[in-house]
Formats: sequence, C-alpha cells, structure tokens
Amino acid sequence: MTIIRDQQQNSQKSLARAAECVSKADVLLIAAGAGMGVDAGIPDYYGGIQRAHPRLADIGLNIYDLSNHTLFTQNPALAWGHWVTRQREYMNIRPHVGYQMLYNWAQCRKRTVRVITTNLDRHFLCSGFAPDNVFEMHGSMYDAQCMYNCGANPWPLDTTNMPSVNLNTMQLLGPPPLCIKCGGSARICTALAVDGHWNTSNVEVARIRHETFFREMSTDRTLTVLEIGCGTVMAKVRVEATRIVAEHRMRGGQAIHIRINLHQAHIDEHEDNISLPFSALDALRTINKLLID
Ligand SMILES: [Zn+2]
Repeated sequence: MTIIRDQQQNSQKSLARAAECVSKADVLLIAAGAGMGVDAGIPDYYGGIQRAHPRLADIGLNIYDLSNHTLFTQNPALAWGHWVTRQREYMNIRPHVGYQMLYNWAQCRKRTVRVITTNLDRHFLCSGFAPDNVFEMHGSMYDAQCMYNCGANPWPLDTTNMPSVNLNTMQLLGPPPLCIKCGGSARICTALAVDGHWNTSNVEVARIRHETFFREMSTDRTLTVLEIGCGTVMAKVRVEATRIVAEHRMRGGQAIHIRINLHQAHIDEHEDNISLPFSALDALRTINKLLID
C-alpha cells in the first residue's frame, strides 16, 4: 500500500511539474506517436493489426507483408486494398479532445509551438495547427507516387472515388491508381514498413524547416518537449525528440523533456526529464486542468 501511495504521489508531483514546464515554455515541441492516435480509436498498426482486422491475422498477414513496396507490383489489389481501407478508417475518426487542448496551449502569443509526428491521421492539421508548424515525418497516405521514378511529383489521390475493398481479403475491387505521368504502377507516398523507394520530395521542405528552426533557436529560450505516445518499435519521433533536447542542452539552453507513455515511459535520469506513465488523453486532461487551475 505504501509503495502504491508513493507512486501516486510521485505521479501527481510529475504531472504538476509537467504543467509548470508547459506553462513556462518559450518553445513547445509536441512530438506525437501512435499512442496519441490510439486514444481517438486509431489502431496502432505495429501492435494492433490483429485487433483492427482479425481476418488478416487469420490468413497470416502482418503489417510488414501489407505495408511493403514490393507488394504494389506483386499484388497491387492487396497493397492498395490495405491502404484504401486505412484511409477510410482514418477519415471516419475525429481528433480527440487532447488535440484541442494542445491547440489552445499553442495560442499563447509568447510561445512558439512546433509539431513532429509519424502519425498519418492528419489530426493536428484538422485541429487547426498551421501546416508550416507541423512536420509529418512519414508524409501523407492521401498522396501517391510512381513506382518507377519516372520524374512525376507525388500527387493527391481522389480518395472519394477509389474502388471499394473486400474486407475479408482486403483486395481492392477495381483498377488501382496509375502514375499520372507514365501510366505505370503507382503506390502510396508514405514511408512503408518495408520500403527503400519512398519519394520524400513532399516532406523535404518540412524537414528542412523543422531542422533549421531548432538549429537556430536561441539558447535564451526555454524549450519544453512534450513527447506523447511514442513507442520503441517505431522510434523515429522518440529519437528525434531526444536529439533536440540533447542539442539544446549541449548549447547551454534549458530543455525539459516530458515523456507521456502508458507502457514505455522510462526516461534517462536528469533533473529536467519527466516520466508520465499515462495514456495520452489522461495525461493531457490532467495537465490541462492544472494549467486552468
Ligand atoms: Zn511514372
């Protein structure tokens, strides 16, 4: 009982410190992974495909089979069927209230807010964050690219007029999209689980803008990094958040690193590192209440 009470007291202290650090941030970096979307009902595809689509697991398919560059030539109906299904799932899910809280925190005039995420749901943009302030590291699953690098720039898909999908087999029931320039095979323009051929031209501008901002940030500015739901299986956002914190500290600035993660909240010992072992929404609700009070 004493251990549980101590843990609860520590968590309350950590949440109060996190609220204080959000409040005093000159620059707030929101670094969001799959755990942010899970609270809105979006499956974490790396761990949850069996829960999202039990038939696929029954026939022996996992995320590495489906989100795979080669599949677009070997079985385009299945490759496209998978992505069209995801597009439709995501478009039917609204951002949860945590996004609105973050948006409200971003409205403080003295504070600069940036977002990095590998999520494909576009929920930060739907919630009002300016596109220039959001770096979607994995691009967009609503864009397509040529399979053969013919020189076509990635183009937006007409998502409302895509063929339907047989949800038992996940096969697209109609012709898949083709390259708008050469007429050859096309694929989704996002980082696939098994890739090496992703056309990153659409995300390069955002990447350079993101890296330049943090490289040039004055060390007089207090940086708070709010890392939310970034696991260790697909750790790109977690790694980038940690890198930005380390660089700002190395240059002599103060950087607070808050890690919100229900199952993987461990963070290196440091006076400005805060571990919050909660779901994204639970932590954001509590911090928001502390900020209002
Ligand atoms: Zn082409």
